[in-house]
Formats: sequence, structure tokens, C-alpha cells
Amino acid sequence: MNINVTKPFLPPLAEYQAFLADVWRREWLTNHGPLSSELELRLKDYLGLDHLLFVTNGTIALQLGIRALNLTGEIITTPFSYVATTSTIVWEHCAPRMVDISPDSLNIDPNKIEEAITEKTSAIVATHVFGNLCDVGRIEAIARKHRLKVIYDAAHAFGTRYHGRSAFAYGDLSATSFHATKLFHTVEGGAVVCRSPELLKRVAQMRNFGHVSPTEFDEVGINGKNSEIHAAMGLCNLKYIDEIIARRGELFGLYKERLAGLPVGYQKILPECEYNHAYFPVIFESEATLLRVMATLNAHSINPRRYFYPSLSELDYVSQRDFTPISNDISRRILCLPLYFSLSHEEVDLVCRLIHRTLKY
Ligand SMILES: *Cc1c(COP(=O)(O)O)cnc(C)c1O
Repeated sequence: MNINVTKPFLPPLAEYQAFLADVWRREWLTNHGPLSSELELRLKDYLGLDHLLFVTNGTIALQLGIRALNLTGEIITTPFSYVATTSTIVWEHCAPRMVDISPDSLNIDPNKIEEAITEKTSAIVATHVFGNLCDVGRIEAIARKHRLKVIYDAAHAFGTRYHGRSAFAYGDLSATSFHATKLFHTVEGGAVVCRSPELLKRVAQMRNFGHVSPTEFDEVGINGKNSEIHAAMGLCNLKYIDEIIARRGELFGLYKERLAGLPVGYQKILPECEYNHAYFPVIFESEATLLRVMATLNAHSINPRRYFYPSLSELDYVSQRDFTPISNDISRRILCLPLYFSLSHEEVDLVCRLIHRTLKY
């Protein structure tokens, strides 16, 4: 059996089948069905949020956010994230301006944001990398001073809390992903979270082709809906979410223990952030060391992933060449080790033994 960077959580098959039996009885597959509505309600309740819209995926959630906030011109963003954080900005005809990350938090460095602001800047799109919350207080202060909108790419941040609130509660809007590789998933899926009811209404219309009624359209929209079949998976998985998060925390602690004493670095979590342990990233001393570790692990059918490499400031379609040496450097040296619900202690031990052995020679 391969040990991959992640494996999706799968609920007991019978529980999923019971939802499917309901769907078959109702003959209602998509277009805001009862399971999609129930999932939205349950998620709002679990996360303590006023508004949440279940959408097709995290990428569409970001695109809807950029559109609904009328963003134009330049958007300040992070080079250390998944490609969708940048590609959605370019897809929406805005220009990403990369601001380097902090080598500790691995999130956008608030100290460097202001020098990148120009008269064309409309927003900041920042990622809560690996589930570690951005310095939301500093970012909000900068945004308010310069009248910028803030979108958080919160694809990793399900279950992370800060000052008692969900990570999704920060910024003008948060976009998250419920992809199968994420901590909470609906196979494919995502959500838009915002505080403003007007903004929510606009995103909801845009999610449904711009319909205001069956025969009226206020503005251009897209199909950002999700299905009953996906919602059913979400409802099943949500039942286990506390166990999923606790299990990851336990495995994360075990890794830390087993790797103690090795010359590796870790992401520093924002103080007072209740972290969700979504990933287990390790920063090696050099890319050469990382490649040696990868080779050893791969030879034992263990497949960690280079999240995030390359640094997004190196993408060919990013025209403005911003100087992001920290992101470029860390992206070459960071590796996410396997972390998922069904990973065993013995498997963590094996991964750590192989890393110890590689680093010794
Ligand atoms: C997974 C991910 C996305 C994209 O989400 P999808 O649901 O796969 O479209 C966006 N940003 C980050 C940081 C991600 O990890």
C-alpha cells in the first residue's frame, strides 16, 4: 500500500447510501436541493457563521469573490500558495502583485504589503497557508487605511479558529475548498463565506447564472452550484469532523516527537490561533537534502508532496516580476509529509525512521 501525502476520509458506506436512497426517492439531484441547503445550515452552525454558500469548488469560490467585490487593476497576493490563488486573479483579468512571505508563518508578510500598494491596487488576496491563520489584524488595518478589499483563500483553514471565531469569519470574504484532498471534503466542492448580506445575495445570484427569478437576470453569472450527491458526502463527513481534526493533531504531535533533534524547520503558528493540523510541512536545510529524502521515501512507496513548489512569482503568466526571495527559497526546501485520518502510528514511525536515516549520511 502506498502512503501518499493525503488520502480522503471516507464515511461508512452505508451512511452515504442512506443519503443516496433519499435522493433517489426525491429525484432531485441539483439546483439548491434539500441536502445542499442542509449542508449549508450545518456548516454555518458548526463554524459559527452567519452566511455560507456551497459552490462547485474552491477555484470558483475565489472567482466569485473577485467578481462580486468588483476587483480590478492590481491585487496584492502571496507567492507561497497553490496555483489557484494566482490563476483566479489572472483569470479575472486582474494583475497579481506578489508580496513575500514571513519565513516563520509562511503567510504573506504584513510588513511588506504597504510598499507594494499603488493607485491601481484594489485588494489583498492572502492564503491561510496549511491552515495557519494570516495576521488578520494587521492585514485588516492596512486594508482599512488604503481602502482595499480583503479576500482570504481559506482552502486549508477548515476548523482553524482565532479568538474563538472560525478562520472563515475574517476579511470581506473567504473562499474555501472542499476538495477530496482537504481536511473536510465533499469530493469536489467549496464555499464562499462573507459577513455582508448584500454581498451574499450578489454571490448567490452569480452562482446561479445571474438569475433573480426564472425569467429575470440582473447581471452576468456563472454556474457555481453544487449537487445533492456532493452535499450528501459533506453531511456524512461533517459527522466525523471533530474526530478527523483530533486524529490529525495526534499524528502531527507524533511526527514532531519522532523528528525531534533533526536539523529541520517548522511553520510557526500565529499566537492564539487554534490550529487545525491540516498539513505536516517540514523545511529542510537545502533542496538537495529534500530531494534525497524524497528519493528515499519514494523508494518505499511513500509519496510526500512539494507544497508549494514552484513559488508562484515564478509562473510564466505572471508578468510583473516581483522580488520574493523568501518564498522562492522556502518553496525549494519544504515538503509536506503524509497526514490523513487512516495513517497509522507505525506508518508515521516508518516515515520518520527513513528521514533520520537519510539525514544521518
Ligand atoms: C485546493 C486549493 C484551492 C483550490 O480548490 P479547488 O476546490 O480544488 O478548486 C485553492 N487554493 C488553495 C490554497 C488550495 O489548496
